Amino acid sequence: MTFESLGVMPSILEALETRGYTTPTPIQEKSIPFILEGRDLQGCAQTGTGKTAAFCIPIIQRLSQNPKKGNKIRTLILTPTRELALQIGESFSEYNENNNLKQLVIFGGVSQEKQVKKLKQGVDVLIATPGRLLDLMQQKFISLSHLEIFVLDEADRMLDMGFIHDIKKILKVLPEKRQSLFFSATMPDSIVQISNRILTNPKKVEV
Ligand code: AMP
Repeated sequence: MTFESLGVMPSILEALETRGYTTPTPIQEKSIPFILEGRDLQGCAQTGTGKTAAFCIPIIQRLSQNPKKGNKIRTLILTPTRELALQIGESFSEYNENNNLKQLVIFGGVSQEKQVKKLKQGVDVLIATPGRLLDLMQQKFISLSHLEIFVLDEADRMLDMGFIHDIKKILKVLPEKRQSLFFSATMPDSIVQISNRILTNPKKVEV
């Protein structure tokens, strides 16, 4: 199996080759073709399985292939911690090196000034922790009204950390018509419930 046979476009294939990624991991093999088709996805996968690339690669491809309208945020990747947000940001920029999507990572505990300045310059892909996201939304620095793709990463950890109310608030302002990708290491009832609220007719993938 190759990334090419999964339908990944040449500019991303080149970026993957540079990193020495020759073979897709199981979560990538099972997810990438469906995400490229625009389907919702429920992925049960731990960190270390290659799940970050499994959602970053098709997001880059879909956004690059569909022209943007205006200057609005097109993808939100919501993740529970600053460390995870930074890691996703790093991976995203590597796979995005031959495309020119604008990405920004935001999290709390630091001044918002630089984040706000970047937001004003225009962002395609926002990688965020819930608290700072809501804070900047309330101050009207962020609008998600034109969001095309929503990713909820490490959903079980989000709930463990008490982010359920924040997530519900964020869900309320997302456009109904969107693609949603949901990842969790475990799938207890509480997680299945929130996943059902977010996803429409999802492809379910487990590794
Ligand atoms: P993740 O589960 O997304 O945190 O990824 C775990 C690690 O695997 C990261 O350091 C990635 O850079 C690496 N990785 C992801 N996909 C591949 C691949 N197809 N081949 C080799 N390494 C990969």
